[in-house]
Amino acid sequence: MPSREEIIEEAGAWLEENLDPNLSLVEWRSRLVDGGWGSPRWPKEYWGRGYTTEETNVVTSLFIRKGAVPAASAGSRNLAAETILACGTDDQKKRFLRGILTGEDFWCQLFSEPGSGSDLAGLTTKAEFKDGKWVINGQKVWNTSAHHADWGILVARTNWDVPKHQGISYFLINMHQPGVEVRPLRQMNDHASFNEVFLTDAIVEPENLVGAEGEGWAVAKTTLSYERGGFGTVSDIECEVEKKGRLYDEYDEEMREANEPYVWYPQRQGRVDLAVPRAQATGTIKDGAVRQEVARLISMKRGAELAARAAKAKVRSGSNEIVSAGSIGKLASSFVARQGAKVHTMISGADSLLKGEDSAEQGVIAEILVSVPAISIAGGTDEIQKNIISERVLGMPKEMRADTGPFRDIKRN
Ligand SMILES: Cc1cc2nc3c(=O)[nH]c(=O)nc-3n(C[C@H](O)[C@H](O)[C@H](O)COP(=O)(O)OP(=O)(O)OC[C@H]3O[C@@H](n4cnc5c(N)ncnc54)[C@H](O)[C@@H]3O)c2cc1C
Repeated sequence: MPSREEIIEEAGAWLEENLDPNLSLVEWRSRLVDGGWGSPRWPKEYWGRGYTTEETNVVTSLFIRKGAVPAASAGSRNLAAETILACGTDDQKKRFLRGILTGEDFWCQLFSEPGSGSDLAGLTTKAEFKDGKWVINGQKVWNTSAHHADWGILVARTNWDVPKHQGISYFLINMHQPGVEVRPLRQMNDHASFNEVFLTDAIVEPENLVGAEGEGWAVAKTTLSYERGGFGTVSDIECEVEKKGRLYDEYDEEMREANEPYVWYPQRQGRVDLAVPRAQATGTIKDGAVRQEVARLISMKRGAELAARAAKAKVRSGSNEIVSAGSIGKLASSFVARQGAKVHTMISGADSLLKGEDSAEQGVIAEILVSVPAISIAGGTDEIQKNIISERVLGMPKEMRADTGPFRDIKRN
């Protein structure tokens, strides 16, 4: 395995030769990916270098310092990529992974349904094999960025005569076809980040089934483990170069578009960063009750960060606890966000209800209050994380179930 110095030398020399701010975004990323630097953690045969997480971090830090635009990662791309890498066929990896890294293909996640969120395995979108193709009918909901996705990761029911978890299959669906209709939804914070997706005789080619027919639940769990493990990572490495040129303009444009559905995401995390400055600016810092709640907020945030770091270290050491680590981190984010909303309400009082130019933080405080509930729902609700932690980490008895036996016979709304 290469040493830190060897990695820096090789990656640095490669950057010296290849990083050109006049390239288009796709041209640069094609070089990056074909050079094996787009996702060095991935295997060599799939555009990676087989590096460990630690070795990959060395590359990432160097690339940030040198102003190298990274491989595409916004939206549900990473979920799709990691799932295909873990569960896909060689042909699927060859067809899809490169386009994900270069950013040529945008992905969305088509899991939740109007009647199946927490109980995802109760989904009723149907996939039937007819004339050599999968024909999909049903409705999905809460699909972030589905309105500009090229591909979707989809779970659908292929067998109604077996217990619910056994009748599900996992597909890669082309979003650009007549059978796929995407309709945006407006949220209570006035953003429109999500969609309903109606599937009417939509087609999936047989080679885009991931895993065997009826084994989609295990594949979906792989996706979910990455989704829950991905809450709250920040980089504080400074870039040493001035970012000027076509490459950076196109990257900024991509990020603006890709981040548009997520502009309120900092607010849903409770904006801990604003608590002390606003308490000082409003003078409420002098109020003992406010100070106590601000202190509680900051210690909860710090505790959550340290727990996330400990969990990551465990995963790096080869432990198999990614799902539980993700659940604990996700639950901690919910507690922090709710405490953030409480603190901002104490600081701003009735003003926290106002929107517009002259309101508290130009409406950001109001947006926090109506965005925080989302973090307790997205990627699995708090109650579901508690169930996972109690059953898998604490070893407590499983929930009572009334949904065993063939799916066709299970009572549902
Ligand atoms: C911001 C955001 C982004 C999202 N993005 C996506 C996306 O990109 N793709 C996608 O497919 N979905 C997405 N979702 C959907 C999300 O995964 C579901 O909303 C979530 O899983 C909850 O399902 P539900 O809304 O059907 O609620 P329900 O499952 O109906 O739950 C209702 C209430 O019952 C509780 N409950 C349910 N079952 C149990 C139980 N067994 N024990 C105890 N309590 C229980 C829940 O905790 C909740 O309080 C997103 C949601 C949000 C808010």
